[in-house]
Amino acid sequence: MTASTALLIRGAGRLDDPRPTSLLVEGGRIRARGAVADAAAPGDAHTLEADGLVAAPGFIDLQVNGAAGHDLTEDPSTLGAVAAALTGYGVTAFLPTIVSAPFEVHHAAIAALAAYRASTPVRAATPLGLHLEGPFLSPERPGVHDPTALRPPDSQAAREWSAANGVRLVTLAPELPGALDLIRELVARDVVVSAGHTAGSFEVGRSAIEAGVTYATHLFNAMTPLDHRSPGIAAALLADPRVTVGMIPDGHHVHPAVVDLVWRILGPGRFSVVTDAIAALGMPSGRYRLGRAEVDVDHGAARVGGRLAGSIIGLDAAVRNIGAFTGATAAAAVETVTGVPARVLGLAERGHLGDGTVGDVTLLTAGLEVAATIIGGQVVHARKDLTGWG
Ligand code: ZN
Repeated sequence: MTASTALLIRGAGRLDDPRPTSLLVEGGRIRARGAVADAAAPGDAHTLEADGLVAAPGFIDLQVNGAAGHDLTEDPSTLGAVAAALTGYGVTAFLPTIVSAPFEVHHAAIAALAAYRASTPVRAATPLGLHLEGPFLSPERPGVHDPTALRPPDSQAAREWSAANGVRLVTLAPELPGALDLIRELVARDVVVSAGHTAGSFEVGRSAIEAGVTYATHLFNAMTPLDHRSPGIAAALLADPRVTVGMIPDGHHVHPAVVDLVWRILGPGRFSVVTDAIAALGMPSGRYRLGRAEVDVDHGAARVGGRLAGSIIGLDAAVRNIGAFTGATAAAAVETVTGVPARVLGLAERGHLGDGTVGDVTLLTAGLEVAATIIGGQVVHARKDLTGWG
């Protein structure tokens, strides 16, 4: 089956309307819905019977370090293997994330992404561009980033970081010298800039947002804590409607009660769920790499010493946790990994299932388990009992 073949998904409801309907994906795009889709489907269209399921837009993860045993910082050429593994979690697009490393690693990652995009498409989630998390991070809040790799903001070193070169999001600490100028330069090159791994104050946060910061990387983790007399950068990021907040709802990074509190402040519109998944995603307990760090994975958490080192949660489970932690509706929980990340990246053709949008669909059960993952009209992952296409 090729991406140009039409796919008719029959019998699935929508998140906001459970009544069964049809969805036609043709030429890699959503072409029609409802009775129009049935009528417009070409005779040789593949049909996927999806009774009892819900058709959601494909999931988008803005922070993925690795999966299936592969760490993207250690070896950016494993991009395809990571992208393929993510389809099992309903992910159809993502930002491959590079943690703090020498600038040669960023250069290699940019080259690896370009080579991957130029190669034959595989049955895998689409990399929308790189997320460079560091190296312009606070030495006071490194998390498990290699402290010897951290650098002050350096416009010259970052000169090839642009959307045109495949860099989509950069996380930096805005209190560092030269950071505000670099934020403006990156935004001018269509890069989304996020505050993270930062010891910044509330006032620094306000200045960063004025300079162009529109995202917060894993709010509260590796960040000045919220204090009632000294609110810190977290309060500035939460308060400003221009900022979308990334969170890792795996039950380890942020207490469920605080996830719920943030949800009540932000609602689904500015709340972005990411996994920050590492190489150990989908793998047994043991020792894995994250950049130069050796990470021990056990009991659902990844740690270096006592410190959390990314997560091993799938994006689908993270979405289910939003429902469990906050009582959010299925539609609102799914919005945090569809419409919200698409808007963060300025991608009007993703994150919803309007006519003409990218034909990425995640089929879900009523309990938000992934039944099938469809990318550009191609079924790339499906539950074993779900047959009928092809
Ligand atoms: Zn981080």
